[in-house]
Amino acid sequence: MEEVVNENSPSLKMEELRDLKRRALVCLSSIADSAPTPTKREKREHADRELYCSLIKTFDNKAWKHSDLCAKDLVSHGWRNNNGKTVKCDSCQKVICTDLPSISENVDVYKKCVSDINRRIVESHQLTCPRRSSSIKISKFENLIDLKADMIKRLKSNDDDLQLKIDFAMEVPTQSFSSYPRERVICSLLNWGITKQVVSPNKCRLQFACDLCNRCTSLSENESFDPVLNHMKWCPLFDKDNNGMAMWRSHLSLLTQEKTVRITSEATSMIVGKVKSLLRKSISTVALEECN
Ligand SMILES: [Zn+2]
Ligand SMILES: [Zn+2]
Repeated sequence: MEEVVNENSPSLKMEELRDLKRRALVCLSSIADSAPTPTKREKREHADRELYCSLIKTFDNKAWKHSDLCAKDLVSHGWRNNNGKTVKCDSCQKVICTDLPSISENVDVYKKCVSDINRRIVESHQLTCPRRSSSIKISKFENLIDLKADMIKRLKSNDDDLQLKIDFAMEVPTQSFSSYPRERVICSLLNWGITKQVVSPNKCRLQFACDLCNRCTSLSENESFDPVLNHMKWCPLFDKDNNGMAMWRSHLSLLTQEKTVRITSEATSMIVGKVKSLLRKSISTVALEECN
């Protein structure tokens, strides 16, 4: 078929190409801007973790009796437990009354109050408060060094002569923690801090505490401990990633792989820079072709 050539087509083609190039550059710039650099992302995740832990502490079993109001939901929107009856946002200073009526008096009223408070977790912030839209999340460790550092922090804080019995059949590589018994490595992986309490000269109890869900339980030394089932069901360790894998399983998998792929910010900006440079050259080539 014979090609129909419009006399305006060369300039139209150039305009189209320029437009395509402009759009490609805008797209590239947005990729470079929106992809948080690992350093920035890691800093943000670290800050979130610290903030989460400091807020969730205020909801420990003694200070927070409302099991139907999930502490993690409140904390993820920046609420700090004041006194068991109110929670406060440090960013906008707003307060929510969390005093609930007795469930035994009127279940319907109780359920309505719980549902009202859950709605206010977002709505009670001032319109400009950052906690209204962004939540404080515990993210899984993406690299092995951070995971190990977190585990070692707990392992070091334990008493050296801890003797544990645990219910955990899965294989866990312990070569990186060779100076610690397998049971303690597993408990640390599952975020348990352990303290030994001497009850009498011949009797000790072991106290297990998770600082992500505030679960705290104590056992005698010869009792067996299940490091998975003892967490609160909403513990962030069971939050699932995009592949449906619970956080603690991702950590176990990371420990097993003993390697991690790290995309650095330098690599991302280098790729974007190269593509931009190619695009710039492309218009020159087109211009050259048009001249010839
Ligand atoms: Zn607020
Ligand atoms: Zn937990």
